[in-house]
Amino acid sequence: MKESQKYQKKTVFPKLKPSKIKTEHMQKDYYTSDTQKNARTGDMYEQVKSNLRKCPFCDLKDKYIIYERNETVLTVNLFPYIDSHLLIIPRKHHLKFADINSKEWNSVKYLISLGIEILNKGMNIKNTNILYREGIKAGVSLEHLHFHIIPVTPEFIQYKKDHFLWTFQKINYSPIEIAKKLKKIATKYAK
Ligand SMILES: [Zn+2]
Repeated sequence: MKESQKYQKKTVFPKLKPSKIKTEHMQKDYYTSDTQKNARTGDMYEQVKSNLRKCPFCDLKDKYIIYERNETVLTVNLFPYIDSHLLIIPRKHHLKFADINSKEWNSVKYLISLGIEILNKGMNIKNTNILYREGIKAGVSLEHLHFHIIPVTPEFIQYKKDHFLWTFQKINYSPIEIAKKLKKIATKYAK
């Protein structure tokens, strides 16, 4: 059995009652360092998502934001596919690519570039994919427009002859740890 499959089997979150999720998610900060590490491979993602009352990207918490330019932020994904998975999110609740104005697009472009650079300098990550999804069948889970910067390893994306396979990876650093580290590095490299 592959390491990633073993991990997925082991990581089972206790079933939480919906009322508990709402209380903890909305009033406290639900994402502790530990839950963040297992957020994607357990069933917490679906549970939290189905209990959201407002758009989480309209309500971003400062501590996760790495850098901001012109109302567009570079932040960590709280449900990372792999360590150091970042997101770029215009603060405005856009639903589709065509809604981004030129100022926001320039910021997105700048933050993609900055994100790639700080992953390289801070985490020694040299391989990344940029991902944008549009449309329900594209696998969009949160409608507020966002871009992903995803570090790529041979375990995460496996290229086969006629397809390729993405496998969520074991997380070693919680997103809050990544955010703290990259904030400092972003301040150094931002122009
Ligand atoms: Zn929103």
